[in-house]
This record gives sequence, C-alpha cells and structure tokens, in this order.
Amino acid sequence: MNTKNSEKLYKKGCENLVGAVNSPVRAFASVGGNPLFIDKAKGAYIKDVDGNKYIDMVLSYGPMILGHRNKNVEKAVAQALKKGYSFGASTHAEIKLAKLVCDAFPGMDKVRFVNSGTEAVLSAIRLARAHTNRDKIVKFSGCYHGHMDAMLVAAGSGLATLSLPGSKGVPAQAVENTLIAEYNNLESVKAHFEKNDDIAAVILEPVTGNMGVVEPTQEFIQGIRELTKEKGALLICDEVMTGFRSQFGGAQELIGVQADITCLGKVIGGGFPVGAYGASDEIMSNVAPLGGMYQAGTLSGNPIAMAAGISTLTELQKQNPYDQFNEVAEKVEGMLLTSANKYGVELTVNRFGSMINPFFTNKEVTNFTDAQTSDTDKFAKFFWAMMENGVFLPPSQFEAWFLSTEIKEVELEKLSVAIDKSMGVVGSL
Ligand SMILES: *Cc1c(COP(=O)(O)O)cnc(C)c1O
Repeated sequence: MNTKNSEKLYKKGCENLVGAVNSPVRAFASVGGNPLFIDKAKGAYIKDVDGNKYIDMVLSYGPMILGHRNKNVEKAVAQALKKGYSFGASTHAEIKLAKLVCDAFPGMDKVRFVNSGTEAVLSAIRLARAHTNRDKIVKFSGCYHGHMDAMLVAAGSGLATLSLPGSKGVPAQAVENTLIAEYNNLESVKAHFEKNDDIAAVILEPVTGNMGVVEPTQEFIQGIRELTKEKGALLICDEVMTGFRSQFGGAQELIGVQADITCLGKVIGGGFPVGAYGASDEIMSNVAPLGGMYQAGTLSGNPIAMAAGISTLTELQKQNPYDQFNEVAEKVEGMLLTSANKYGVELTVNRFGSMINPFFTNKEVTNFTDAQTSDTDKFAKFFWAMMENGVFLPPSQFEAWFLSTEIKEVELEKLSVAIDKSMGVVGSL
C-alpha cells in the first residue's frame, strides 16, 4: 500500500497541528502507524491522498449513514448555501428538524440544537441537575459521553467504583459527583443509589459503541428505568451514536425504554456539526429563555447544518433501511466468524443494527472488562490487513464499525474477500 503522500502530509501536519489530527481517535496510535489523509469520498467509498480507495466502515464515526455525498443531501446543502451561512437568528429549518426529531422520540416534546455530541451531553447533565436540584451522576465504565470534565472518568481497577479523572487537566472536584457503575450490572447501580440520595441522573449509551458494540440486557435497562423513577432521578440516554442509526427512533425504540432526556449528534447533522438534547415540556422548561438553566451557542441551529440534518432524516424515513442493515450486519458477522473458525482465531462478534464489531477474545462481551480481554495486537494486524485489502476501519479494537445504505452486494463480496485474507494473517501469527 503506497502511503507516500499521507506520510508527507502527516509530517507537515505535525508542525502546526497536534499530532496532525483534530481528534485523537483519528491518530493511529493503538494500531501503530500514522494517520491517513483523505482526499474525497463518494457513496460507500473513501479515497486517500495517494489514490487508495477503501470501503468506508468509519463513516466519520457514524454520521454518514447514507454513504458519502448523497444526492438529496448535497442538493439541500447547496440550496441552503445560497441563502447565507449563519444569521444569529431563528430560521424555519430549525423548526422543521425539531419536528422530525421530536416525532421520532416519544416523550420528547422539545429539543435544543447544539454543535456536537459533547455539547449535547454537557447540557443534558446540566439540565438533569437543574431539574432535580441534585448533583450526582451515575456513569458506566466503557461508555463515552464526549470530553466534558465530569464525563472523563475512568473506572478504577477491579470493582468499578473509584472516580478518578481519566485525563490530565481534569480536577478531582470535577469528577467527585460522577459515580461509576458497570454496564449490564444492575447491582452496581443499586449500590450507588443505596449510598447516595442526591443522584440527579443515570447516563448511558442505550446500546454502546464506544467499548465496541454491547447490548444491554432487559433486566439491566428496565431495572435502571424503574430504579431512577423510584428514586426521583432522571434517565439520560446518550444516543449520539445510536440515534437514527439503530432505528429511526434510536436504540430506545428497539430495547423498549424511554429516557427522560435524550442526547443526539452524529447522524442528526448528516456530516455537519449538530448535536441536540431533548425531553418533555416539563423538563425542557428549565432551559433559558423559558427557565433558569443557561445554555447558548453562536452557531447552534446553523442553517447549512439544519438543511443537511433535515434531508438526511427525510431520506432515512423514505428508505427505511433498518431491516436491511440487520441483514447486511448478519452477513458480515457470518464472514467474520467463518474466517475466524477457518484460521483458528478466537473471536466474538457483537452487533446491533448497523453497528458491528469483532472482539479478538473467546469471551462473551457484555461490559468493558470483557471487552478489555481482547487481544489488541491481533486487532492491529487485522486492521492493517483490512486496509491493504481496501477496507477502512476505525483504528481501535473498541470502536464499532458502521454500515451505510451504500453497502450493496458488490461491497459485501469485497468485504468477504478482505475479511478472509485479513483473518488469515491473524491466524498465522
Ligand atoms: C461521539 C459520541 C459523543 C461525542 O460527540 P462529539 O460530537 O464527538 O462531541 C458522545 N456520546 C456518544 C455516545 C458518542 O458516540
């Protein structure tokens, strides 16, 4: 694989950018090697600056669910551009996207648009605290909720109850109200409620993508829903990744739970920077200008981003690709397991709708501790072999792969060949 131009740009990029990337997930640190530089993308494919073409299973970490440069989205964006880029005042487009979003999530009467998933979560947490007059938040190890201080908490070793900052620069005080629990372990949540009567909210990815794909058990998710209700705490579902991806109504619709506050991002902006948080009229009435919880944004509800969001969601409604995503994911799962079996590689595959990923472990993966039993060296070998064979994967064992509606029979055929060759490389280690 020729990556001469990427290497050149990487060196140049390091002069004025941090590690030549604007988000560390784009660095190839955990698989060894330097990040690729992308020139352009279309449909299911992405092309780097050396002309290598890949089936894109990163999809900008989720947003590009329709593949790249969907015709109708492109048209909508071009039209919006002609009218101006930003006004610092309301537009009709914001109302249209708000209606689409609120109709998709039962229990969501109002929504506020922001510019990223991080912003959606930090606002949702402020809202939960404002609404309950309580400060503590229960979060699960392995769930990612953006880079706000209070959510950058790693679980301590062993039992996940220690609240230690997972990043330099996060003051201990910033995470002292963050309680860590274990995913799919209801007892670990109950334990926090027994010790604390000032928990404002439990936040979780209703299906995770940030420790790889992990589905909640019904006992776990319904247990949390009942417990939060009983204790007067709110349930925040962070659907920044799963919203409009797992199902039009998010993962909540499929697992049968209704959050008090829902966070959205990624797909909702169709590739442009949009985040959102929404809830019932009662809860949202805390937000300024209706209430005393302040949250603002110069570019929030940006008309270009709204146009991309509206057209992406409208297209998803029209195509209703969710059953097909399941079928495609099932096929990819079959490819992974068949090849792993053929080459004697221990592998667990988790999937949910259009999110799927293999864990290089023989364990069932139901939480972060299980996920961490994966052999990341094997993943790195697999990753590079997949790249060599024309498939762009997230450069981490702990990220979901994403499907777009542009993955058709031809791409599945190519995936099958790439997976078999790459698993062969891992098997010969
Ligand atoms: C990506 C992600 C975020 C953060 O969104 P950004 O737009 O990167 O700030 C938050 N929560 C979840 C579940 C995510 O997947």
